[in-house]
Amino acid sequence: MTILNKNIFILTGAGISSESGIKTFREKDGLWDNHRIEDVCTPEAFQKDPDKVNNFYNERKVVFNRPEIKPNNGHKALVELERICKKDFLIVTQNIDSLHEKAGSKNLLHMHGSLERLYCMNCGHTIAYDFEIDSSFICSNCKKPGKVRVDVVWFGEQPKHLEQIYKFLEKTEVFISIGTSNNVYPAAGFIDYILSKKEKALLYEFNLEKTIKSVLFTRSFKGYASETLPNFIKLVSNRKYKI
Ligand code: NAD
Repeated sequence: MTILNKNIFILTGAGISSESGIKTFREKDGLWDNHRIEDVCTPEAFQKDPDKVNNFYNERKVVFNRPEIKPNNGHKALVELERICKKDFLIVTQNIDSLHEKAGSKNLLHMHGSLERLYCMNCGHTIAYDFEIDSSFICSNCKKPGKVRVDVVWFGEQPKHLEQIYKFLEKTEVFISIGTSNNVYPAAGFIDYILSKKEKALLYEFNLEKTIKSVLFTRSFKGYASETLPNFIKLVSNRKYKI
């Protein structure tokens, strides 16, 4: 039996991008690159000091755009898995970088948005951007200043694509969670949702360490995703991974 004949749902978190040079969320004491999450990742923070938040994301974007920040073997292995999967395949990422699409993944949803786009809180207009944003920026559609922000989902906001995600979760037969601490909901609850629908789903976790959800998984692969994922997918594609 192979997992390739099953519907595969992949959930990725900051850990998959860490070996590409992007720092994870909770690497040290709940800080993201030396910032308190509540100072830069909430609507309240943006209301209080929009340019502090804008500057935080401007800095992240500079990092994301560095030539040395490239998809690693973990991202590439998922492209291969998508290619050889014979049923439905979906990657849902919590990451706001674009390393999955740069690697070549096709069926991909950014549930926490992406730093590729800006969004106007007044008229809902979104645009792709590649410049520094500040609070004087005027929306090209409604012409209002001060309403344009990065198109990422902050704490306290509704993640994107949930309808599509839960529709796929209903039929998920293989769930693979990669590089996420399982602390941020609703993503952390996807495994519980699958288990409530399909007792026999295969659940695999790839992480450097145990997470609070590890006990629920069929199997946990401990180690760097850039190594464990390609090894796993090689076994799967050679039909040497038995389920
Ligand atoms: P997290 O920082 O809470 O957890 C990262 C997890 O990855 C940890 O469990 C860690 O043990 C594991 N990990 C680290 N390096 C790894 C590796 N090489 N191989 C395998 N596992 C590894 O991240 P999260 O759970 O994704 O938290 C979600 C929030 O973080 C999201 O809202 C996301 O937007 C935000 N975030 C995104 C980025 C990005 O876009 N790259 C970076 C930082 C934070």
